[in-house]
Amino acid sequence: MADLTETYPLIQREVSSAGATLVAVSKTKPMEQIMELYALGHRDFGENRVAELVEKQAALPKDINWHFIGHLQRNKVKAIASFVHLIHAVDSPRLLREINKQGVNNQRKIPVLLQYHIAEESSKYGLDPDHPEAFFADLTPQELPGVIITGVMGMATYTDHDEQIAGEFKQLAETFRFLKNNQFPDATSFSEISMGMSGDYPIALQHGSSLVRVGSLLFGQR
Ligand SMILES: *Cc1c(COP(=O)(O)O)cnc(C)c1O
Repeated sequence: MADLTETYPLIQREVSSAGATLVAVSKTKPMEQIMELYALGHRDFGENRVAELVEKQAALPKDINWHFIGHLQRNKVKAIASFVHLIHAVDSPRLLREINKQGVNNQRKIPVLLQYHIAEESSKYGLDPDHPEAFFADLTPQELPGVIITGVMGMATYTDHDEQIAGEFKQLAETFRFLKNNQFPDATSFSEISMGMSGDYPIALQHGSSLVRVGSLLFGQR
């Protein structure tokens, strides 16, 4: 197991000096490990399963910012809608509309990111970065009072070829700029690029990441 008290301050300093926020990915890890980081002052944690997130949220301090980083099924939005801090991986208008509905029911605007598929690996999830505007074909964000789209998210190919990873992160940053200019020109809230994990977060920081999602490097292998 990684020694949190040694690794955390180093990673935290590296991320914050780049102007980004560290999301500690605590999926599958026990609450005691979350509380170890909490005691060091950390508040942003990421989970990818609804049942696990709901259980941890109920038991742990209420000032934790819970990030939902995995694929989210529409019928599970309701369970996290009252408290989730940011949903990272919206990849369909239908999911966005459901989050909007649950946001309205909870009298809040739920912050979300649009997930783009930047990796070479095939995946069922993620929007096509070659057509970033396609998502908005029959959807106007202003019509959805229960959500606020605050940026984009992506995952690079799992490879040790740094140039390829850098190219994919650059593509996500370009997608962010395109959307900012074309869909959100007046929105100061459209400001986040969620990219970078344990194996590639330094490259992500070089290319403008504002949120890095680091799990195993902090908490040890899952
Ligand atoms: C698990 C996960 C992470 C963290 O991965 P590590 O390699 O352990 O840092 C980041 N993002 C997403 C979407 C994940 O599912």
